[in-house]
Amino acid sequence: MTATYYEFKLGRFDCLAVADGQHVYQDPGALLFPHAPKDLLARALAPYGKDPDKWREWTSDYTCLLVDTGSHRVLMDMGAGSTLPGAGHLKKNLRALGIDPETIDMVLISHAHPDHIGSVFPNARLVIQDREWAFWNTTPALPRLSPEMRSMLIRAVDGRLPALSGRIEQISKETRILPGIQTLDARGHTPGHMAVSVTSSGRELLYAGDAFLHPVHMAHPKWSAAVDVIPKQAVSTRQRLLARAVARDSLVFCFHFPFPGLGRVREMGETWQWVPV
Ligand SMILES: [Zn+2]
Repeated sequence: MTATYYEFKLGRFDCLAVADGQHVYQDPGALLFPHAPKDLLARALAPYGKDPDKWREWTSDYTCLLVDTGSHRVLMDMGAGSTLPGAGHLKKNLRALGIDPETIDMVLISHAHPDHIGSVFPNARLVIQDREWAFWNTTPALPRLSPEMRSMLIRAVDGRLPALSGRIEQISKETRILPGIQTLDARGHTPGHMAVSVTSSGRELLYAGDAFLHPVHMAHPKWSAAVDVIPKQAVSTRQRLLARAVARDSLVFCFHFPFPGLGRVREMGETWQWVPV
């Protein structure tokens, strides 16, 4: 990845995809598609040049979305901060574009995984689902993860919660945050995972957060990742978001997809296809 930003318009809103960096995940088949039948997985990955038997590493781009409504600068997710070596470049990349992180007045946190809550935006309201906040403020069980992965994840989240705790604003349901900015219940990846619908002049941009980690999750929304805390709900969330994106011809934004993480969804009979911009 060389580009660090991608500018686009949504109606009257100025939108910006900003790179936070990349992270390399080991054993991606087991992480992303642990229960996928082998032959189907091989077929699904072929267009990406991957053979599941030889797929050792997955390099995921991390991309955040900034929406300037004209009166507010709304950021979706905060990147990894200092928690991961290859990421945490969001604020530097914003500054390089002449955007002072202190001018961002709202951050919508899709969920509290460490790659989404790593930075500090001192003047922003920080909005998260109450279920999400409660989940990580107890000791979550996370039975689908290996003991190593579980303790690594909990340690990373715990390291960030104190910095956020005095500043978090919790919402309990789908909420219109500002004109044209509406949160959507997208639970499953985590118990309080949320998506965001951004609308202007009749056009929708759907910030899907981590509802989809890889474009193959659109072709096969029933394949939940090992990091999806509630797999059944993750499946219904994916199907609901895909149907919505098709019905509204929405632009869709996915944090972990190849940069800039922006595209559309095409319905293909029983399944869906990711069409990047
Ligand atoms: Zn993530």
